[in-house]
Amino acid sequence: MSNDFLQHTIGNRAGMSVTIINYGATIVQCLVPDADGRAEEVTLGFDTPQEYTQPANPYFGCVAGRYANRIARGRFQLGGQTYQLPINNGPNTLHGGLSGFNRKFWSMQAEVNSITLEYISPDGDEGFPGTMTTRVTYTLTENNELKIGYVATTDRPTVVNLTNHAYFNLAPQEATIGQHRIQIDANRYVAVDDNYIPTGQLPDVTGTAMDLRQPVTIDERLPQVEGGFDHSFILNRPGIDATQPAVVLDHPRSRRRLEVFTSQPAVQFYTGNFLDGTLTGRKGVRYPQHAGLCLETQHYPDSPNHSSFPGTVLRPGEQFYEQTIYRFSIH
Ligand code: BGC
Repeated sequence: MSNDFLQHTIGNRAGMSVTIINYGATIVQCLVPDADGRAEEVTLGFDTPQEYTQPANPYFGCVAGRYANRIARGRFQLGGQTYQLPINNGPNTLHGGLSGFNRKFWSMQAEVNSITLEYISPDGDEGFPGTMTTRVTYTLTENNELKIGYVATTDRPTVVNLTNHAYFNLAPQEATIGQHRIQIDANRYVAVDDNYIPTGQLPDVTGTAMDLRQPVTIDERLPQVEGGFDHSFILNRPGIDATQPAVVLDHPRSRRRLEVFTSQPAVQFYTGNFLDGTLTGRKGVRYPQHAGLCLETQHYPDSPNHSSFPGTVLRPGEQFYEQTIYRFSIH
């Protein structure tokens, strides 16, 4: 695999374009028109591909894997064996370990409207069993939909959870996402402990700050959520052909809208709580807390340790397949 940085851009006639690099299969640019047709950057990131390698990169735009989100104490059992992963987040493993899929060079192939990246994760990579081959395809449609398809196979049983970790801000001239409105079609969420590990409870959102079934302005809701949103919402109607999107994000002034459709069972809604103004991003801008938000479509955190959660085991002969659509429009 080449360790040279490669990048490729796909664009459409509607004025949207997306640039991907082979490091981490990362979205490094996503230009989307506003109500006046002005295309602007709607994700957080850096000016150069090299900057994505810095340890302080908070997973901007990357594909997180082999297991996105947390695994408690980095440990799980499979086929009677215990596997220990590197610990990189308090006492736990986050986003695949110290050198997750976000830190790998992928092979990259471009077509007119799509880019396909492949990474072959060797047996034992970051402690995970089995050689796992992952292909991620980004496709841009003429309707301003960015479709992300994930396919994975393995030669031994393993666990898998793949997502994209883009931080969105639909109004790049605003320092934070506070004025955005969010709606998530979820009656339940995954309750977590102080280290963000699931307790096993899947509480009803009714009457709580987690009830996002009607649109709320983020600045109005955030003060009610200790530490900010960093929660897995269980989607009522997963499916890419769903008539109702899983998530709707609006910015009233720019009138940009982002709708998310996904085959995955949950979405981790994360409001960039750990950004703190020390990280310098594009054009020298320092990203403050809540500069962007992530809508990470994925399985529940720590599923390998919760038999009641939807399964994340992938076996030889099976094909893991998930798809997410980020659809941009004007409202
Ligand atoms: C997690 C956060 C974490 C962030 C790292 C998110 O997916 O939910 O807890 O801090 O990734 O950028």
